[in-house]
Amino acid sequence: MIVNEFIENPEPISGFSNPENNWPDYLALLHLLLIKHGEKKYHMMGYPEKAAKNICNLAEKLGLKWRIVSGTYAFDYQKQAISIPQNILDVFDDAKNGQPAKELVIAKDDATLDKLGEPVFSNSGTGKILEYSECCINWFDENQSMGWEEVYEFVMENGETEKVEEIAEMMHQYYESGYVHTSKERIRKILVNHVVESRNTMPFIFFQPCDVCIGPSSPSRKLNDRYAKFAKEKFPQLYQKIIEEGKKDAKAFV
Ligand SMILES: [Zn+2]
Repeated sequence: MIVNEFIENPEPISGFSNPENNWPDYLALLHLLLIKHGEKKYHMMGYPEKAAKNICNLAEKLGLKWRIVSGTYAFDYQKQAISIPQNILDVFDDAKNGQPAKELVIAKDDATLDKLGEPVFSNSGTGKILEYSECCINWFDENQSMGWEEVYEFVMENGETEKVEEIAEMMHQYYESGYVHTSKERIRKILVNHVVESRNTMPFIFFQPCDVCIGPSSPSRKLNDRYAKFAKEKFPQLYQKIIEEGKKDAKAFV
């Protein structure tokens, strides 16, 4: 009943919600259903988000529990090709590590929410909570780190300052922006090779599959297939919608 109603009248319930298609909303509903049926532990959303209120209402209707979980931020950086000097990394570490962070988390009951304690909401910490493939979590972290190195190079070439605080601030300002040519090129490749591929062939997962996982028979394909099988058996209409809307979403990136 709740599922059919939502299919008829979908609402924005995801940080990825957009006016063009309902792929993120149908998929978020499926992930709530996976939680309800014990196939997955947590669903998360940035807070506050416009869609947060909607997803809390839907979670309640499905008999799930939601909570604004307090944890901390952390700065994940893995050295890639260029090494950012330690004194600059220290500025990022001081600004991020251990700073309070709040996220909206949905689970099947309070006991499961209690088990989270005070989590670290770094990219890798969040990826683990959401059961993303480990190789894809690492790949995402590597990409983010590459982004920091690219913007560091850009600021050193264009920034006309040697003050550590100013360099750090400019790095934040230009991170993954259109000004940094190398970042722009790298992000374009990810959107075309990874995001489009996953929307078309792995529309049941939310995260970007890594280089290995866009290939055949990968950890993420297996995870996608497990979620897809659940949807096909229990909610065939929703299964169809996620496939159809995923293809529409893919078109937005090419
Ligand atoms: Zn992977």
